[in-house]
Amino acid sequence: MERQVYLDNAATTAVRPEVADFMAPFFGKTYGNPSSVHAFGREARKAIEAARAKVAAAINAEPGEIYFTGSGTEADNWALHSAFERGGGHIVTSAVEHHAVLHVCEYLKKRGAEVTYVAPGPDGIVGPDSVARALRGDTCLVSIMYANNEIGTVQPVREIGAVCRAAGVPFHTDAVQAACALPVDVKADGVDMLSLSAHKFHGPKGVGALFVRKGLRVDPFMHGGAQEKGKRAGTENVASIAGLGEAARLGIADMPVKIPAMKKLRDALIDGILNGIPDVTLNGSREARLANNVNVSIKHLEGESLLLMLDMNGVAASSGSACTSGSLDPSHVLLAIGLDHETAHGSLRVTFGLENTGADVDYLLEILPQIVGRLRDMSPLYEDYKKRG
Ligand code: PLP
Repeated sequence: MERQVYLDNAATTAVRPEVADFMAPFFGKTYGNPSSVHAFGREARKAIEAARAKVAAAINAEPGEIYFTGSGTEADNWALHSAFERGGGHIVTSAVEHHAVLHVCEYLKKRGAEVTYVAPGPDGIVGPDSVARALRGDTCLVSIMYANNEIGTVQPVREIGAVCRAAGVPFHTDAVQAACALPVDVKADGVDMLSLSAHKFHGPKGVGALFVRKGLRVDPFMHGGAQEKGKRAGTENVASIAGLGEAARLGIADMPVKIPAMKKLRDALIDGILNGIPDVTLNGSREARLANNVNVSIKHLEGESLLLMLDMNGVAASSGSACTSGSLDPSHVLLAIGLDHETAHGSLRVTFGLENTGADVDYLLEILPQIVGRLRDMSPLYEDYKKRG
């Protein structure tokens, strides 16, 4: 059988077999509605509260501070909508956020919000000083992501949290790529709201959570029943919530071993690409970087063609248009860190998960230089470039 190597774990991860096993009873005998008072209902309720405790422990929160949602996107929407509904006025965010934040800001602008988009440095880092300078008297929220989904840059969240705390402005962080990928501590980080999503750490798709610091009031996001303390109505997705909790528990338990192992893969791939292929640059900070992220711009070729050729060789990766596959617009993140359109188009993102090994890196390093060579030979732009010397 043809070799298949999945290297697109920032898009989504495989559900861990232990997590799938953990979820299975909720598709079978444990089918009660958690709001029911009888034994069936109580068993489902127990599973939800156990998951809440596991998610809370993963980010050093209290169980009562965790609200389950239908995705990371929903958690981001909720945080921004609520802050704007309550505080009005001005929102500070960054130019490298996920669309789950940026498109909400665009929507809120139509409803009267003013938004400041803090520019990152060339390494993708959003400086705490720049955040401080963007604050105004009427700022109702700062929303800066914990780690970037495209270039893997880890933001100085603790310093940004301190800036917000000093100014008395609530701080939301989109930790969808950071949860279970690095230590996240909402208390030490000074975070007031935090979004996470199970399918980025080997849990099921379509379930996430919003952490809301005790004492911070949020508006209900869904109206209806009394679920999630009346804040997010709708019968709970018990199986997925249980899977989220278990994936978080396992993810945190594994971190001391898995993260250093992933860093090794990452660094071997970065070094192998930079040393083995001419005209390649690394995007994002080399140091403040997720353990599983490699993002490079390979000059004189089209990222889309590169992805197709990799796919033909059994490798699943991603390019500069990230989650919006099908879109040919260059990534807003790569443009925000100063890349021109052509360079942004030639970018490749490789993201590791629990299943990847050194053999996957070796295989990619074997085929990538050949593919790049073939694509460049076919490219009129590369012809031009060589003629110009
Ligand atoms: N925020 C970030 C940083 C992401 O990477 C993603 C997904 O790619 C999301 C939010 C959206 O999460 P979900 O897929 O659970 O809606």
